[in-house]
Amino acid sequence: MAEAKRPRVAAPPAPPLLVYHHGDTQLHDTALPGVRHQEGADRVSAIRAELRGVELREVAMARPPRESLLTVHTEPYLARLEELGRDGDDRVRPLTPLLLAGSGGEADTDAPSMTNFSRGTLPAAMRAAASVVEAIDATTAAARSAGGGSERAFCLVRPPGHHATPVGLDANAGGCGFCMLGNVAVGAAHAIRAHGHRVAIVDFDVHHGNGTEQVLAVLAALAALAASGADGGGAEAAELCFCSLHLHEVFEDSDLDYFPGSGADAGGGGGGGVTIVYVPIRPLWSRFPSHYRDGDVPKDASELMGRAGWMRGLRERVLPAVRAFRPTLLLLSAGFDGAAGDDGCVQRGEDNVDRAGLDLAPEDFRSMTTELLRAVEYEDAPAPAGEGGGGASSAAPVRCAVVSVLEGGYGCCDDREASGYDRSCLVRACAAHVGALARVYM
Ligand SMILES: [Zn+2]
Repeated sequence: MAEAKRPRVAAPPAPPLLVYHHGDTQLHDTALPGVRHQEGADRVSAIRAELRGVELREVAMARPPRESLLTVHTEPYLARLEELGRDGDDRVRPLTPLLLAGSGGEADTDAPSMTNFSRGTLPAAMRAAASVVEAIDATTAAARSAGGGSERAFCLVRPPGHHATPVGLDANAGGCGFCMLGNVAVGAAHAIRAHGHRVAIVDFDVHHGNGTEQVLAVLAALAALAASGADGGGAEAAELCFCSLHLHEVFEDSDLDYFPGSGADAGGGGGGGVTIVYVPIRPLWSRFPSHYRDGDVPKDASELMGRAGWMRGLRERVLPAVRAFRPTLLLLSAGFDGAAGDDGCVQRGEDNVDRAGLDLAPEDFRSMTTELLRAVEYEDAPAPAGEGGGGASSAAPVRCAVVSVLEGGYGCCDDREASGYDRSCLVRACAAHVGALARVYM
């Protein structure tokens, strides 16, 4: 693969970035009585305040197409969410025990649950997934037309989605990490089905996207079907690309496992029509031997760690894979919980001291975004398999559509019960990402 720098052509003024949002996504209430929740509506309102000069597009669809939802989630899981939504009163209820109990079962509502459910949860989750579908439709139309319009979008929505498995809960992680529906995965299913897109997903949330991982095979099968329908073959080649940078650490018999515990090095492989590139990053707290049992301290000093390790993993592993795959749609699972100071990458040790796992600065999110965008700028356009692009014989230039979707990122909190969360590190990181997407350096 040629890595040589190409001369850059002066571009005309960029059309404005499409930013999708809907007030329904703020109806998802997560706070149990007396306890502030990391994934609160003020995350998004704080980002909105920072982006006050940006025009927001209201998400028009109340829910995504059902066939794309059913590609990602089982019918019983969706039915259970509907049932909980119908039966709910104004209380916020812990979701994990409700899902474990199943329909009609007795839920142990004292059981620990990271993810909570309220009357507004399902409309919020449906609107969040629908926003990705709308963003894909709009950016695809722009990317495939000579008439302008932005081929880049950001979905400012919640709840996040990349931990939502086909059945909601993950058997190993024992929860769904504040997620309800796989927003990005539902979008990928729609992109393949409706537009014949060649989809790459890059997940830079600090947690591994175990929910997305669990639907890669079905998405790849869908993509292989779309490709074979368009050009009569090619099912052997990778039809989907999933790259993830995340913290990873699992110890036996320890309570220090980093959620969700999956995402160990996939060896750059994947198979079954999927290219998977995992870049597990060793948490910074690994530098403290007192954190470990039986002297299980890191032995390999070359392990990727901290912001330098993160950016090295991006440049040496993720970007080459994305360039080689040549997507027509790049979906970003954009989590900002790797930002320095964010609660999402802090671990409390046995000595009761909080220690950070990662220390990304806003400029790292800006650089990461810019470098990802450059990886999908082509001199010669890739031909989409499905409608709109005209297949391999198309003479029209095709740009890669880019849709970024908010996942995690929480800010910090010294005292959850008293003061709530300080969202400033989330806001700075997200604004740097959005500025790079918009080609405006905020
Ligand atoms: Zn996260």
